[in-house]
Amino acid sequence: MSTAEQLRHPIESGVPDPFPFMHPVLKKNYGAWVWHDRPRPGVLRHVAKNGDEVWTVRAGTQRQMDVFTIRTLCDIADRFAEGYVRFTTRSSIEFMVSAADKVAPLVEALTAAGFPVGGTGNSVTMISHTQGWLHCDIPGTDASGVVKSMMDMLHAEFVAEEMPNRVHITTSCCQINCGGQGDISINVQYTKPPKINHDLVAKVCERPAVVARCPVAAIRPAMVDGKPSLEVDEQKCVCCGACYPPCPPMQINGADSTKIAVWVGGKHSNARSKPAFHKLVVANLPNNPPRWPEVAEVVRTILATYKANAKDYERIGEWIERIGWPRFFELTGFAFTRHHLDTWTGARKTMNMSAHVRF
Ligand code: SF4
Ligand code: SF4
Repeated sequence: MSTAEQLRHPIESGVPDPFPFMHPVLKKNYGAWVWHDRPRPGVLRHVAKNGDEVWTVRAGTQRQMDVFTIRTLCDIADRFAEGYVRFTTRSSIEFMVSAADKVAPLVEALTAAGFPVGGTGNSVTMISHTQGWLHCDIPGTDASGVVKSMMDMLHAEFVAEEMPNRVHITTSCCQINCGGQGDISINVQYTKPPKINHDLVAKVCERPAVVARCPVAAIRPAMVDGKPSLEVDEQKCVCCGACYPPCPPMQINGADSTKIAVWVGGKHSNARSKPAFHKLVVANLPNNPPRWPEVAEVVRTILATYKANAKDYERIGEWIERIGWPRFFELTGFAFTRHHLDTWTGARKTMNMSAHVRF
């Protein structure tokens, strides 16, 4: 073998080939599945053209996992599930077995180890969150903490299928909201423009990088007390927080300027109705770790009202479209305030549409 052949070339993009890791029954019947059902919450049965069956057991995880937890899950897979697992996009783990009598012991082992079995059908599925402090440099709070407290509260709705339709909850740690749209979305909002510590800017900031990062071109270089610094046009600033990572002296993160907003009615799927952006319902909730009780109360109210009033198979956004937003605010008891009106027209002429650095 030549040296060139021995070198392992990195794969720069794309996912690995899934077939070497696939359960043999799934591999054998790839593209040949005829129907499926859900014998109980958290369990799916798929039947192939040739009569082969496979049972999938879905369990919730804590999303950000340590090595001990992954080893525990793999041990369960080896002892109770024929050694095959996969993770869903919402970080649920799925175990596949090829015989019906293996399902109950697997469910029992997962439950005993603290992993709830559920998240299928009309349940509140695993809550997704953005990267938070683990990988991103903008967060106003750690989205995974909000998610953990929500999941504890919603455990009963995860292991049952009692909602009118599935409920996807997402949490984002800034308004850039890289997590996407959700039936209920919990987003951190910065409420004030950054305060600049001018003594530090010249020492630690790359000023062109900060200026380029602002999405509305609100930052300009400026001389302050004879030193090179920056200034912010507060009329333009949309309080996104994007300038903080390249320039930490642009302080935007504080108890008085970091709040949580709850949005509803977003969805990515095309089923029955078009994909939709979620819309603001409650703003300015305190960013109150470690359990965020004010946010939990709002989410609990939305879910209880939806469960009691929506028709079967209506997603939250579809239900609100049918009854109208005024009725939604009446039913939930939330106040309709000026924060619900999107009156900002500045984007038409100031949105930073290119990567050019402006001075
Ligand atoms: S939501 Fe904002 S802060 Fe959180 S990971 Fe995404 S971009 Fe970063
Ligand atoms: S990056 Fe965001 S927070 Fe910073 S000045 Fe621009 S709009 Fe305001």
